Amino acid sequence: MAERALVTKSGAVLLGDNVACDAHDPSRPLRVVTHAHADHLNGLRSSLKRCEKVLMTKATRDLTETLNTSLKLKDTPSVKTLEYGKVLKFGGEKISLLKADHILGACQVLVEDAGGIRIVWTGDFRLEGTPVVDCDVLVVEATYGNPSCRRNFRVDVRELLVSMIEKRLRGGAVYVFGYHGKLQEIMQLLRNADVAVPFVMPERVYEVTKVCEKHGMNLGCLSLSTDKEGHELLDDNLPCVAFYHMNQRQHVGLRNARICVSGWEFRSPCRQIGDREHLVALSDHSDFDGLIEYVRRSGAKQVITDNYRSNGDALAKEINKRLGVCAVAMPRTNGQTTL
Ligand SMILES: [Zn+2]
Repeated sequence: MAERALVTKSGAVLLGDNVACDAHDPSRPLRVVTHAHADHLNGLRSSLKRCEKVLMTKATRDLTETLNTSLKLKDTPSVKTLEYGKVLKFGGEKISLLKADHILGACQVLVEDAGGIRIVWTGDFRLEGTPVVDCDVLVVEATYGNPSCRRNFRVDVRELLVSMIEKRLRGGAVYVFGYHGKLQEIMQLLRNADVAVPFVMPERVYEVTKVCEKHGMNLGCLSLSTDKEGHELLDDNLPCVAFYHMNQRQHVGLRNARICVSGWEFRSPCRQIGDREHLVALSDHSDFDGLIEYVRRSGAKQVITDNYRSNGDALAKEINKRLGVCAVAMPRTNGQTTL
């Protein structure tokens, strides 16, 4: 079973004989994009030119194109979309994409080789909404692979976040900062909790949100911050929620109530980080316990931890120690991300 999977120095997760996931690999004819985050799009231009097939879900195709407007995925004949659970046969192997609870369209990848060996790459995932796939060989993400990365909070972070925003709306506009995908998850949480105020956002966030709506999210009442209506809501400090990418944190809403949403917080579900600014620990990745639990339930006999996108060494050691399963971190040294 040796070498049925590995992670290259360029960050490609190689499964079986044909598949490279989340980075280009010149030896592999089939590229899979597990989701639209930039560290999973490495070398995509090369894959579009050179691979026989570039595979992803429809939602990932639309999100990737929206976030990278120079990539014309819909016009590229090698780009194929595959629904969750459907099987594509390629070069004697069966390939399927399975749901991963992370951002819209995210998937895990299962390859069954000609000998019936099942090889899985989890991609990024949060255990609670992700089906665990039975497999022989598993490549697992390692973002929170250190045992110190645990979120054992006694409160429900989502409920806390909604009630914080509701409370602050009484004082006018509330700014929420986060990453693409997670911002839309928060919008959905608020709508599900019957928060009906307008959502205001800059163009890129708006476009991502429209893609999420096209693929089934129901977010309603959206305004562009550059349009007259959005401008007025923010300038007059009327009750609305303004959603901005984390990298705009220093530039907008400096006098308003502000909430930053980040997974890199383990001490408390919510903590004050500025005059009117709080950090809320909402993550779209599994914490350490979730990663170990996935490995245990998968039944994998051989595990590789992704040491390219994060430090996989600690997780590999803990899998060996706690589960008695052979695990290694690959590649040996962390790499760099390039599109
Ligand atoms: Zn991701």
